[in-house]
Amino acid sequence: MKATLMTAIKQPLVARDMPDPQPGPGQVRIRLHATGVCGTDVHIWHGELPVPLPIVPGHEPVGEVDMLGAGVRSVRIGDRVGVGWFQAGCGRCVYCQKKQVKFCAESKTWITNGGGYAEYMIAEAEGCTLLPDGLEWVAAAPLFCGGFSAMSAYRAARPLAGERVAILGIGGLGHLALQIAKAMGHPVIAITNSADKQRDAREMGADEVLIVKDHAGRELQEMGGTDVILSFSPSMKQNSQAMEGLRAGGRLVTTAVSADPIQADPVQMLFKQTSIIGSAQNDPADLIDIVRLVADGKVRPRLETYRIDEINRVLIRLSEGKVRHRAVVTQS
Ligand SMILES: [Zn+2]
Ligand SMILES: [Zn+2]
Repeated sequence: MKATLMTAIKQPLVARDMPDPQPGPGQVRIRLHATGVCGTDVHIWHGELPVPLPIVPGHEPVGEVDMLGAGVRSVRIGDRVGVGWFQAGCGRCVYCQKKQVKFCAESKTWITNGGGYAEYMIAEAEGCTLLPDGLEWVAAAPLFCGGFSAMSAYRAARPLAGERVAILGIGGLGHLALQIAKAMGHPVIAITNSADKQRDAREMGADEVLIVKDHAGRELQEMGGTDVILSFSPSMKQNSQAMEGLRAGGRLVTTAVSADPIQADPVQMLFKQTSIIGSAQNDPADLIDIVRLVADGKVRPRLETYRIDEINRVLIRLSEGKVRHRAVVTQS
């Protein structure tokens, strides 16, 4: 098969011929159709998240199962599937017993099994999610990390019916979270720094758009405040400011990968009983639900689509912040 490998930090990925992979017990082989390119791929490429090299990256893969390893019952030949970051755990530790595979120290992931920038990949059968009929490959791919994270962020806030939900940062994850909050019936405020995103945000269903001039929190408060902020902004200064825009009982959900701290005013937190919640990919059900929402047309990922041999161009675009929403490479 043809595979695209990362062989060194910050060096172009290279296409190579490799032996077709064979599934072991409990595993399947997938003939890939599309793989999303995630911001985390850039962190990996830059060496900020060390992985053993060489490696085939790509943790938003979708494709068709074409070979089964011994003992696989849940997945069948010809199934259309996608695979998330965490595929299976050891099955024996306390987290695996609680079905919290992502906390297992020996979890199987794209790092252990090989990722999606290739013609074929191996995945644990229990890490495969079936794609509904009619859901396009390219629309499905970015759900397996980006969409999953956006759905988990929404759920992590435990929003109640009618609560106002603000989305801070409407790029890759934020544009999905905005549509999720809208699909769930909330009044939605999009918070952005750039006036040129206003129309986009409205098109995707934002009821109001706050273009931050000086201080996101105060300006949000002037609009009446919000019960929930789903934050996809990497600026911890802006996250800290946004806290001031929470109503009593409000929650800010942070998803950012940043070395900087969030600052919160404890007196405000005390009197308003606000909280900060960290969120990643929390419950496997969140992934299933975002796949359904997209299959039903209630959430529409906005995508740039490239061929797999353009992957280096995509990584550069992503690292320069030029990908407005989400990028996907296709193998077919
Ligand atoms: Zn385990
Ligand atoms: Zn990712």
